[in-house]
Amino acid sequence: MIQSILRRNGLQCQRLPTPDRCAHEIGKEYCSNGLCNPAYFTIGSLIEYLRSLEPAQTREEIVRNYAFFTAGSNGPCRFGMYEAEFRAALNAAGYNGFRLLTFQQDHGVNASSGQSGFQFSVDFGMDALHAFILGDVLNYLHHRLRPYELQEGDSERMMEVLASDAGLYLETTKRFEFSESAPEILRPFLERHRAARAYRVSNTTGKILTHLYGRKLRASLGKCRERMNRMEVDWLRVKPVVKVIGEFWAQQTEGDGNYQMFQFLEKEGAEVSVEPISNWVLYLLNQANQRGIVRSRLLPHQAPWSKPVTAFRARLSHWLKRCMFAAGKGIYQGHYARLEKALLGASHPLPSQLEIAALANPYYSSSLRGGEGHLEVGKNLYYTTHQLCHMVLAVKPFGCLPSLQSDAVQAGLAERFPEMVFLAVETAAEGEVHAYSRVQMALAEARVKAQNEFETALRSARQPLEEIRRFVSQHPELRSPLFRVTRRSGVVSTAANFVLDVDELMSGSGDRGSISRRDPAPGSLRSEPGPSHQEA
Ligand code: SF4
Repeated sequence: MIQSILRRNGLQCQRLPTPDRCAHEIGKEYCSNGLCNPAYFTIGSLIEYLRSLEPAQTREEIVRNYAFFTAGSNGPCRFGMYEAEFRAALNAAGYNGFRLLTFQQDHGVNASSGQSGFQFSVDFGMDALHAFILGDVLNYLHHRLRPYELQEGDSERMMEVLASDAGLYLETTKRFEFSESAPEILRPFLERHRAARAYRVSNTTGKILTHLYGRKLRASLGKCRERMNRMEVDWLRVKPVVKVIGEFWAQQTEGDGNYQMFQFLEKEGAEVSVEPISNWVLYLLNQANQRGIVRSRLLPHQAPWSKPVTAFRARLSHWLKRCMFAAGKGIYQGHYARLEKALLGASHPLPSQLEIAALANPYYSSSLRGGEGHLEVGKNLYYTTHQLCHMVLAVKPFGCLPSLQSDAVQAGLAERFPEMVFLAVETAAEGEVHAYSRVQMALAEARVKAQNEFETALRSARQPLEEIRRFVSQHPELRSPLFRVTRRSGVVSTAANFVLDVDELMSGSGDRGSISRRDPAPGSLRSEPGPSHQEA
């Protein structure tokens, strides 16, 4: 999707292959010692790719024709040094002067040449917003469906089609232009005044509104829903839900950088709950807002009321910034819900950043920066206390200091929350056998939890499992990826919730039928709707 946005803006773009162990070795050869793993993997992957171009192009041509676009930061962990490391490693590998564009989390795009080459526009920004959100929703869907697909590879194929449809939409759909949407008679006049302030404000407002509320994207997502309905799933497979958290890069990559942990967990029979990038975006907004609140305590000293105009201006600027953060957060969350609903038929709110910070704060201050900050501790507590997964797995690269700090705190939490099944795995370029065996041990506990839950659900149900299976085989909508399995409070696994849903349908009771749901027996499963799948 990002490729499509850049292509639409006239830039040829190609993503680097997922870094593998060979990339790590190349990275180690050209980077300084003592860096964290993501640096070795990503720098090595870039050099490996540039070398693959060499038979067809000289180094000078490669340096002239290519630029590398990546994320950067001024943050307090080693991420802040990545840009400098990239340059040093590229020089050492013989690509002197190779251009780097870094997207700074808080400062936009920096370019080594001074010219980013990007034409920032409202359309570009809104398309990027769509790409982030749709990427998250598709990623969630992919991992949600893969363990339950009836035909192996169906979810993979479906994701490819959905992602390419979304990319095509982003690349080719016509955008709003004020002059084109006005009545014919006014168009020449508007065209002549395109540079006028009033025209630009109206045009920008129209673009934002059509991006957020227009029908085109929702219609395109509606078609994706139809495609999804062609796939079949078996929701009755009993699988422990494993929430994967950890350092940002390690929890997102799907290659050797995290020992291919998602595939391993699925092979071991788990349902993986992936972390959306949107949580990171909301975390950044929340942190910026919190820093503003802390700084505002200095206002009485920095801008005392003895100088009323300065004092008023300082306070006004503070409140405007807070309003902007609140509006940014509201727009992002609202749009996330809209797109998710258009694609999945239901929206699942993202976890509250304020709640995550409040949960983490007694153990890990939310004002500490670097890496994931308080998020690892906060998320572990959030998903455990809300009973949204059977196990939390935190993956972090070798040498990640902020994650090591979180792990020290997590060790204490395990004693305070005995129901917590938590495992932290540090990923180096080798040593996956040891990591896999630790994951298998923790997973055994999670599997028992999931199986017990399923058996309790069956005991609560009025129908035996054979009857439930027969009913499902007669109703294709129950084998659809779009069937919404109700998340019940305290019931984590999909299979247990699905049994209760089908039981209600068969008995004609509960939310799904015309029913009066029978009261659950004491100690049995409750059936009120719980937190969302996305939160899980
Ligand atoms: S969070 Fe950890 S692994 Fe990621 S860049 Fe910072 S120090 Fe490195």
